[in-house]
This record gives sequence, structure tokens and C-alpha cells, in this order.
Amino acid sequence: MKQSFLIKYGEIGLKGKNRYLFEDALVRQIRYRLKNLSGAFHVHKAQGRIYVDCAEAYDFEEVVTGLQKVFGIVGVCPVYKTTDQGFDRLAEDVIAFVRETYGMSNHTFKVEARRSRKNYPLNSMEINCDLGGVILDAFPEMRVDVHNPDIMLHVEIREDIYIYAKIIPGLGGMPVGTNGKAMLLLSGGIDSPVAGYLIAKRGVSLEATYFHAPPYTSERAKEKVVDLARLIGAYAGPIKLNVVNFTDIQLEIYEKCPHEELTIIMRRYMMRIAEHFAGESKCLGLVTGESIGQVASQTMQSLLTTDAVCALPVYRPLIGFDKREIIEIAEKIDTYETSILPFEDCCTIFVAKHPVTKPRLERIEKSEIYLEETIDALVEKAIQTTEVIHVR
Ligand code: ATP
Ligand code: MG
Repeated sequence: MKQSFLIKYGEIGLKGKNRYLFEDALVRQIRYRLKNLSGAFHVHKAQGRIYVDCAEAYDFEEVVTGLQKVFGIVGVCPVYKTTDQGFDRLAEDVIAFVRETYGMSNHTFKVEARRSRKNYPLNSMEINCDLGGVILDAFPEMRVDVHNPDIMLHVEIREDIYIYAKIIPGLGGMPVGTNGKAMLLLSGGIDSPVAGYLIAKRGVSLEATYFHAPPYTSERAKEKVVDLARLIGAYAGPIKLNVVNFTDIQLEIYEKCPHEELTIIMRRYMMRIAEHFAGESKCLGLVTGESIGQVASQTMQSLLTTDAVCALPVYRPLIGFDKREIIEIAEKIDTYETSILPFEDCCTIFVAKHPVTKPRLERIEKSEIYLEETIDALVEKAIQTTEVIHVR
């Protein structure tokens, strides 16, 4: 018997004629995820299913954990794969499978056979009955329960024969690469990594832009953002990270504009620059970690004011989430501990004591006129000096 994994996918199974595109993307994502693990894996499609065959010694937990980070997978079933060598041999394999998976146990069970190869001598009902009898003989303490069994033992007769019982839950979502690319504004905080994760979950590849303000923000703060990009990349795949030096722009805004409007004007310049890089990389939208009312720059009026500078749609997957709910996801996806490391973020240095909470667009546009003579050159310089880091 050989160990394989049967990959269950939900939503992408429903995509009609484009189904194969989604399946191929899922196969690619699985290969990418397993690439650096010990062992040799053969990921392939067969009869409308995806299997991962394990050729060499491998670490079961490591493979399952890896597969549990691939969007598009609803369930991972560890499968025993055997060739058809007659019913007696199948019976032996099934007994070995149950013993190895559950030990000596008093579980209830049901056999659920499926025969897609019609020349097999027994039909599904007969396989269910005969294998049920075999299991009862081998494990006298087990009982059949057809309604609510502890063990649902699947036996699938295809070209080969597949035996499995456990379905380990996956993340769901759609395979990355099936829904275009978006530009994530990634800060060192809790929210934006979660926002990136949620967008990637819908099959979107990510690029990211981070604004730092040396020497007001440290190298450590930047490293933290690189680490966060790497953590999201565990789900979203490789991420190109643009690190923009934002110091001169911030100082200029600080000098020329009303202080209570600093944050909002700064946010508008971040959006403009992120949109520039988004255009270069053919991103179809911008993504931020904002949620309504969380801080002054995230009121409905503030969001309207920031959106006004963007031609691309701005996606805010956390818009209706409370901080508590965001933290819960951050913990689950393993970004929380990194996000709360205490390195200053460029926004916290130039914040006003009393920022406007209901900025009026015309008013903000008027304030930006003070920047008229200098800002284009500063933005151009920031773009030219941006450092690109490929995070894998
Ligand atoms: P986060 O936890 O993601 O930092 P936050 O609650 O601190 O969010 P803000 O600082 O108002 O919120 O930022 C709102 C959003 O703007 C962030 O979620 C992020 O998408 C973007 N953003 C803020 N600061 C930066 C930065 N320095 N570089 C890139 N994007 C940023
Ligand atoms: Mg922040």
C-alpha cells in the first residue's frame, strides 16, 4: 500500500468550463507549497480529483500543515492507495488501514464504497456488506452504525483502489493566481497582514508597498514588515515588496499643512504612490487594513477623502470587523506575534494630537495646494529610490 493524499476542493469544483484552470492553479499552488519539504511528491489530477502521491520518506505533519495553507483546499484525506489484486487482498489492506489509523478500538463504523470502474466484480452495496463483515470479524469490539458512525470508511474502486477515512479540514477559498493581482498597503500593524490574507484567500496574488520614514523609523521596523510579508507569503505565495522612503514627503506635509490634517493627507500620498506601483505591475486594485471608525483616518468621511485620489478600486476586507475579530484571525494565521513587536510605525511619529475625524474633501484639497511647488518632485524621488524586496 502506498500513502497518498486526496485533495478535496469545494468552490472551484463549481466553475463549469473553466474548472480545469482552477484545478491547474491548485495543482501549481500545492507543488509550490511542498517544494521545500523533505520527501518527493507527485501532484497530479486524475478523474476529476487531485492527488498528492508520496514517493519517499516524508513528515506527515509537515505535509498536512503545508496543505492546510493552500487556498482552494477544503479537505485533505490521507489515503492508502493499492492496486486491485482481488477481494481478499483488499480485505487485508482495509484491516491494516483500520488498525494503523485507529488501533484496537470500539468505534462504530460504516463502509462507503464507490465503484467508478464498472468491471469490478462486486457492486458498491456488495463491497459495503462484505468489507463490513470482514471488519467485524477482525475487530469484534467494533459496531456498524449507518447513520452516525465514528469512522466513515471510504473505499473507492477506480483504476487503483483508494481507502480513506479522515478528512482534515483545509482553508477553503480559491487557489492564488485565479483572480488577478492586488497591491496591498502593508504596514507593521495587525490589520493590513490580515487584509492581505483575506484577499489572497479569494485567489488574488499580492504585491505589497510599505512606507517607511528613516531615521524616524528603524531598520528593525522595516525587517518586521519583511517578516510579515513572508508570513502572508506562506499562504499567498511570493510577494514583491516595494519599500518607499516616505520621510521627505512626511516632513514636507508636516511643514506646510495644518497638523490636524497630517494623517489624512499622508494617507492620500500613500495611496497615490501605491497606485503608481500597482499600475506598473498590472494590479487590479489596492488593499488596506482599514475598518470603519477604528481611528480618525478611518471614519466614513476620511475613507471618502482617501478614495478620492485613487482611480483603482480600494478593497478593505476588514471594513466591518471589530479589532477583536481581526486579532483572532491574526493569531490563527500566525502574524499577530510579529505585528505586536514594539517598533515604531511611520504614522505614529507624525500624528497630531487632535486629528480631523470628519475631513471635508474640498478642505483637504485646498490644504494640499500648499504642497504644490515641491510635492511632485518629492513623490518622483520617492518612487525612483524605492527598494524592491522579493519575499519568498
Ligand atoms: P495596521 O494595523 O494595518 O497598521 P492601523 O490600524 O494601524 O492598521 P492606519 O495606520 O490608519 O491603521 O493604517 C490604515 C491602513 O493604511 C493600514 O491597514 C495599511 O493598509 C495602510 N498603511 C498604514 N501605514 C502604512 C505604511 N507605513 N505602509 C504601508 N501601508 C500603510
Ligand atoms: Mg498602522
